[in-house]
Amino acid sequence: MITSTIVAGDVVVFGPPGVGKGTQCSFLRADFGLRHVSTGDLIRHEIKSGSPLGLLVGDVVRRGELVSDSLLFSMVGQAFVDQAPLLFDGFPRSVGQARWLLQRADELSRPLLGVVALVAPDAEIVARLSARRTCGICGAVASSAAAGGPCPKCGGELVRRADDDPTIVSERLRVYHSDTAPVLEVLAQRLPIQRVNGLGEVADVRARVAEAVGQLLNSL
Ligand code: AMP
Repeated sequence: MITSTIVAGDVVVFGPPGVGKGTQCSFLRADFGLRHVSTGDLIRHEIKSGSPLGLLVGDVVRRGELVSDSLLFSMVGQAFVDQAPLLFDGFPRSVGQARWLLQRADELSRPLLGVVALVAPDAEIVARLSARRTCGICGAVASSAAAGGPCPKCGGELVRRADDDPTIVSERLRVYHSDTAPVLEVLAQRLPIQRVNGLGEVADVRARVAEAVGQLLNSL
């Protein structure tokens, strides 16, 4: 049973691509009143809009590489205008971003509650991302079992994200292990980390994640 609690601090949801961060963040937003900041969604929005920024980063994202830290600082800096507690999904993804987050939180006196780190083996990630289909209109995520049919949320067409192509997925995993995995050690020097098994039914993972946030609240 998931109960509604208001969280008094920002939370980082950490993990490899395809581990389920976006899905679990949508539950956390509803369950804990956090504002979801997905840097992947923000970047895709820029690319889709054809803005100068989007044109600049489109190729980087399609290659499965990381967008520059300076761009991320400007995006997340804008999110900090909001006083409401934030739920970071896909940020920080480099050691530089992790150090920046800790420093900005101090400067702005924003409490950082801690990190929920979703864990799954690489083989599972590759299988999930190869099967993932995304709505071209609303961005809802579905498995390939739903391909051919319309988006269950808005009726839009379900497509494979360009960066979910198997060759790009291997590059994203390589980048995760080289650049992003070390972020956890940096955050662990200052913040409590709750590791959560990302395998199994979505509802089971949701219950584990909610429990992990409860543990972060208890550690205040
Ligand atoms: P995601 O939807 O979180 O998997 O992000 C999709 C892509 O956006 C990533 O593969 C990166 O190219 C880019 N991206 C998202 N968040 C970040 C970040 N914090 N730092 C650098 N690049 C990012």
